[in-house]
Amino acid sequence: MKVIVEDNYEMVSKIAAEILNDEIKRNPDVVLGLATGSTPIGMYKELINKHKTEGTNFSGVKTFNLDEYIGLDGDHPQSYRNFMNIQLFNHINIDPNNTFVPNGKAEDIEEVCKQYDEKIRIAGGIDVQILGIGENGHIAFNEPANELNAYTSVVDLTESTINANARFFNSIDDVPKKAITMGIATILKAKRIILLASGKNKYNVIKRLLENPVLCTDFPASMLLCHPDVTIIVDRDAYAD
Ligand code: PGA
Repeated sequence: MKVIVEDNYEMVSKIAAEILNDEIKRNPDVVLGLATGSTPIGMYKELINKHKTEGTNFSGVKTFNLDEYIGLDGDHPQSYRNFMNIQLFNHINIDPNNTFVPNGKAEDIEEVCKQYDEKIRIAGGIDVQILGIGENGHIAFNEPANELNAYTSVVDLTESTINANARFFNSIDDVPKKAITMGIATILKAKRIILLASGKNKYNVIKRLLENPVLCTDFPASMLLCHPDVTIIVDRDAYAD
């Protein structure tokens, strides 16, 4: 794993956006795996900036998001589809038909999961996958457990994740208890993975990921140790050592 330690969140966002921007310039048809949550927001802002100032062209880019809450449709303010539209897609020249987020309101969720992996395959696989990391070591919504799903699946969110995400909802009771998430194998099939982490609340998980090279299903991020091309970009609060 390659580790880049930056002074602060702004720099983490800037470096991550530069990497994606370079990838898009090198390959205008690049397939990106994207993440939601607080961490990538700064990177999306930088990417929008680059689109406006450097003319970065997203017209051939395809995106696949990691996950979506079950029960929220795309217009719901807290759905990840809505998050992506507001934080990135509405501000760049990407074709909305090329942006994929699992449909958490579909009647046949199992079919949505199957189709999602198939759509990624048909697109040629993910070239660069952006990841955040949960305080419990989850990646996407792959929560610590005895078993981890390989492919896109329905999962129950843990109490720790529900508590962490309650800040986005009116009350904790409004936080969905289930989600659709790319599985670990889906994520590990990406050609390149970039994990972003910022802030003291990520210190323990980043330390464990970098300093304890053991694969453990109760620490899903450890599965990234199996991938040959992972870059971790952190600020000093998340990894001081
Ligand atoms: P955060 O979430 O960016 O809001 O900290 C990361 C995650 O849970 O994967």
